[in-house]
Amino acid sequence: MASIFGHVAASSTLGYTAFPKHIRKATILLTGFCAFAPDLDVLGFRFGIPYESEWGHRGWTHSLVFAFVFGSLMAWLFFREKPEFRKMWLWCILSTASHPLLDMMTNGGRGCALWWPFSLERIFFPFRPIQVSPMSIGGFIGKWGMVVLASEMVWIGLPCLVLVMIVGISRRFAQKKQTDSP
Ligand SMILES: [Zn+2]
Repeated sequence: MASIFGHVAASSTLGYTAFPKHIRKATILLTGFCAFAPDLDVLGFRFGIPYESEWGHRGWTHSLVFAFVFGSLMAWLFFREKPEFRKMWLWCILSTASHPLLDMMTNGGRGCALWWPFSLERIFFPFRPIQVSPMSIGGFIGKWGMVVLASEMVWIGLPCLVLVMIVGISRRFAQKKQTDSP
């Protein structure tokens, strides 16, 4: 896994760039939860589900099918009667899907079953610069946690920040152009 910070940074940046009209505390929290939710599969360890099982960590919950179903469910639960349902549906699905895509850039653990249930193969991207995060909160305290945060600052935080700045500046320019035009 990448850490919860990395996953939530990705879902929030996605919202800021693609769904700016719907940025609110509640929507950021919900999509942040979507981005983190695939890692709830670690609870399976307590029930004896092995890592390598399709039901284990980075298995079915790290697939695009799961992202579609889970994201749809969250949007339906919280936004089905709201006018922004379609946008929130998309944001929830993309946030959930961003999770395995980030995990596939980490340098440890097994790959993700991205194509489950059509393929059980665990895959990574060829480029894996992100330091893998420990699976327990205890493991996060100390040197490993610091290394993870530093790595995510560089490989997730910085690209997100640059994207937010570019989008923010271009929006301001577009706004200025509009107000300046006769
Ligand atoms: Zn994960």
